[in-house]
Amino acid sequence: MFSDKDAFKEAFLKKLEMTCGKSFGESTEKDRYFALGQLVREHISTEWINTNERYRIDKEKQVYYLSIEFLLGRLLRQNLMNLGIENIVEEGLHDLGIDLKNLEEIEVDAGLGNGGLGRLAACFLDSLASLNLAGHGFGIRYKHGLFEQKIVDGYQVELPEQWLRNGHVWEVRKPDLAIEVPFWGHVESWKKENGSLAFRHLNAELITAVPYDMPVAGYQTDTINTLRLWSAEPAPYPVNKDILNYKRETEQVSEFLYPDDTHDEGKILRLKQQYFLVCASLKSIVQSYRRQHSSLREFHEYVSIHINDTHPVLAIPELMRILLDEEGMSWEEAWNITVNTISYTNHTTLAEALEKWPIRIFQPLLPRIYMIVYEINERFCQELWQEYEGDWTRIENMAIIAHGQVKMAHLAICGSHSVNGVAALHTEILKLREMNQFYQYYPDKFNNKTNGITHRRWLIKSNPLLTKLINDSIGNEWIREPEEIQKLLAYENNPAFLEQLSVIKKKNKERLSEVIRKQAGLQIDPSSIFDVQVKRLHAYKRQLLNILHVLYLYNQLKENSSFSMPPRTFIFGAKASPGYYYAKKIIKLINSVAAKVNNDPQTRDQLKVVFLENYRVSLAELVFPAADISEQISTATKEASGTGNMKFMMNGAITVGTLDGANIEIKEKAGDENIFIFGLTAEEVLKYERQGGYNSMEYYHHDNRISKVLTQLTNGFFPDTAGEFEAIASSLLMENDQYYVLRDFDAYAKIQHKAGLAYSDQQRWLKMSLRNIGTSGFFSSDRTIREYADDIWGIRSSHIKV
Ligand SMILES: *Cc1c(COP(=O)(O)O)cnc(C)c1O
Repeated sequence: MFSDKDAFKEAFLKKLEMTCGKSFGESTEKDRYFALGQLVREHISTEWINTNERYRIDKEKQVYYLSIEFLLGRLLRQNLMNLGIENIVEEGLHDLGIDLKNLEEIEVDAGLGNGGLGRLAACFLDSLASLNLAGHGFGIRYKHGLFEQKIVDGYQVELPEQWLRNGHVWEVRKPDLAIEVPFWGHVESWKKENGSLAFRHLNAELITAVPYDMPVAGYQTDTINTLRLWSAEPAPYPVNKDILNYKRETEQVSEFLYPDDTHDEGKILRLKQQYFLVCASLKSIVQSYRRQHSSLREFHEYVSIHINDTHPVLAIPELMRILLDEEGMSWEEAWNITVNTISYTNHTTLAEALEKWPIRIFQPLLPRIYMIVYEINERFCQELWQEYEGDWTRIENMAIIAHGQVKMAHLAICGSHSVNGVAALHTEILKLREMNQFYQYYPDKFNNKTNGITHRRWLIKSNPLLTKLINDSIGNEWIREPEEIQKLLAYENNPAFLEQLSVIKKKNKERLSEVIRKQAGLQIDPSSIFDVQVKRLHAYKRQLLNILHVLYLYNQLKENSSFSMPPRTFIFGAKASPGYYYAKKIIKLINSVAAKVNNDPQTRDQLKVVFLENYRVSLAELVFPAADISEQISTATKEASGTGNMKFMMNGAITVGTLDGANIEIKEKAGDENIFIFGLTAEEVLKYERQGGYNSMEYYHHDNRISKVLTQLTNGFFPDTAGEFEAIASSLLMENDQYYVLRDFDAYAKIQHKAGLAYSDQQRWLKMSLRNIGTSGFFSSDRTIREYADDIWGIRSSHIKV
């Protein structure tokens, strides 16, 4: 549509005039952003249509990635970059006196996710399209994404997020493709002529799912895949209903993202959202399949449906329903197709995060789906009986329905052909512990797919200076083959290269310092060590360990005249789920420590603490390139993979971490000397959990660093916080410190000291940093997606750009 700068300028000015009816001179930045966005989307549309045509004609196998979250962030720069028009646009705008960077800032993050799980889905979409794979996303178009966080007096305050306030330029509403999703009502059955049973769902309350499609452009390919997000609207002809009430109840379904990815909120609304996503997506998938095929007998040969955690697991009974009730297939045939179509990723071993639904909610809300799940369970238990006759306990443990509840993970394992964990350790723990009985029964279903991140967003887009240095040094082949970034290792002993690395880090630190100055009014020193922990706030991630250690450092600086440390800035960013009382207390504690430390003239040149407000994708893009130290300090066994750890590594930060999740693989790739590992191992944690033997009080009594900081939590050391931190102190002492914070304190303090010393030797540090960058290629989501494509989905890129 525009092949050079001048053509772009002409098209842009015309678009601006048409969309806002103002002259160029009168237009605001917002007008310009929207005009540019629309122009780019239109630019995409021909290739988008072509891609879909190609998929239809070639009958290529399609993958559908179902996820309750997509944490996309901003899309303007990514789209320009992937379409290969970034330079034309940037220069064209520049001619007009517009800075593309300013327009980017107008875009509100699409924050339809909580954290890692949702961001993974977004990275996967980018990799699928960039590898020319036919893979699409299905999700929910929440009117309000994850809340906006404000910090007031050190406390988290949540404001409703408003990403759609000005409309979203990347989406296309397709009301003609709307789908009705039935809830409640009852099921009628009758005998058909051939003697088999038929079912009909009557008196259902219908909710209309309206699709909004977003193009997902691959990196400089002509593949444009689709992310389809469903919005809940009232059905055109509601019956027997108070119309206003009905409208409100309906729209509620896509109103809010549930603000937690680890606790089951136990709300009807959440189950409604899950079925809403699944039912609309499956109907849409089947409709498009039918345009190419006359029956569903070979459905699994042409379609893979992947469920991102158990939230979309109702895809299993829903596909069964379609095959049984609409296609009239036998149970056996339908089951075979379903299992071969569906694959499942598990994201957690935390027992409290495994979804379970009470039958009393499930059955009335989804009567036909419940019948099918019931039958799946009956047959599954019979099968188990064949294998384990008499072993009631085992069968009870493995059943899908037990004790009045439907266990979603069990349904997912039973009804899919592949179950994967997200890092090597996590998959082993699933196999040996959490899902051991399932592993014994279905050993071939279990496999590992270590997570990845798209290097296009997390390095090329977020760290242009480093990208340029890499390109200037080793060429740009690594962009298509990220593992080629290892060619950088040849520069390990090149002082000029290391010097450039150092200059770039400094510039990125200055960029972040400027943001912090503007946002928090806080001056930080870009030559201090930037020690960063950014991620959701959760007890198992142990932000508490970090902040208690900061408090200990403060005490040392105050009391111990022989104590010295290189200046450090501890940077935190984290949202706590609104109902998660304990996590909010930790945010308050971090801010209380920050107030104390930053205002003390005696320490503030050596120690600073920053709490970044409203951590989200666009802020994260500024944080990772500026980090020296990456804090990945979860209690071993608790963090399934982590992906923040990979973003830090790729930007040259050194990990201070436990042997948990993907940290283990980071250590393997980067080498033992280029990472700071401390703390309990998974085996040790599992042993404590099995046999007991941990007593946090001992650590309190025998380590005066610990007793001192814990005393400070409750003795008025922090002004105006009477009673504030009782819950924290009590979790550590009265409740025996479930996450082994005190147990790991000494090891953490030691490794942090070691990291400080290493930083003081800049040559050594820069080499470590280079080692991390050069071995980070494995953690590109391109590698992850190739593995999913080969091992789970059985798809291949058939399309070569000519
Ligand atoms: C990568 C990312 C996460 C996940 O971070 P972890 O450290 O793996 O928990 C969460 N939120 C945002 C905004 C991210 O970009």
